[in-house]
Amino acid sequence: MNIMLFGAPGAGKGTQAKFIIDRYGIPQISTGDILRAAVKEGTPMGLEAKQFMEAGKLVPDSTIIGIIKERLSMDDCKKGFILDGFPRTLAQAEALEVLMKEMGIKLDKVISLNVPDELIVGRVTGRRVCKDCGASFHVEFNPSKVEGVCDLCGGELIQRKDDTAETVTKRLSEYHAQTAPLFDFYMERGILADLDGTKDIDEITKEIFNILG
Ligand code: ADP
Ligand code: AMP
Repeated sequence: MNIMLFGAPGAGKGTQAKFIIDRYGIPQISTGDILRAAVKEGTPMGLEAKQFMEAGKLVPDSTIIGIIKERLSMDDCKKGFILDGFPRTLAQAEALEVLMKEMGIKLDKVISLNVPDELIVGRVTGRRVCKDCGASFHVEFNPSKVEGVCDLCGGELIQRKDDTAETVTKRLSEYHAQTAPLFDFYMERGILADLDGTKDIDEITKEIFNILG
């Protein structure tokens, strides 16, 4: 099963991905997580990406497509995967189609989490992520059991550098200009499920499981 989670920054993609991993045992491929790991390691790609990420801009397509080619060729993707935060431009979506065709696989479902901009700012600024496993919490809407500690792995919870009110506004405008048009792209392919991302986390998970079967 090859799935993509689609939505604005802070729509709940990463949160839902963790439940899908648990149930279906397929890996989450978050280009954001891969880029943050490269930034942390100080690789040439990380150094290039850092400036775009901190400015709330998209990292160039060529870099992202390279990351995805490498990641999808890994063994753990053979039984399926969850794309989270990719594709984000039409060029990335088209490159993904070409790549998947070459690999003899297809995207089965695109799950869109629809959340209005006015809710996004509060979600992103209150987000806390696990330094070790990337799990996402929220100080108000989804607090961890012990403050500052990840429920899943016990890692330290931190605030992402780009989760500020100022940067989120820029990320939202990138989303509307470059990523939102992909909604119609996948609708035309008949694989898009449009969900209300403002519902409770558990309720959205149930709806996703119903769709995936
Ligand atoms: P994305 O991966 O789409 O950027 P996240 O899954 O990290 O978004 O969620 C962004 C923030 O919103 C997190 O702090 C998360 O705990 C919170 N959140 C996720 N889903 C919901 C929801 N349905 N209702 C309220 N808060 C949510
Ligand atoms: P995310 O973790 O999905 O919120 O992504 C964090 C940042 O990483 C984004 O604001 C972009 O700068 C960069 N990024 C992640 N995925 C992509 C992508 N598919 N295309 C371009 N930039 C990306």
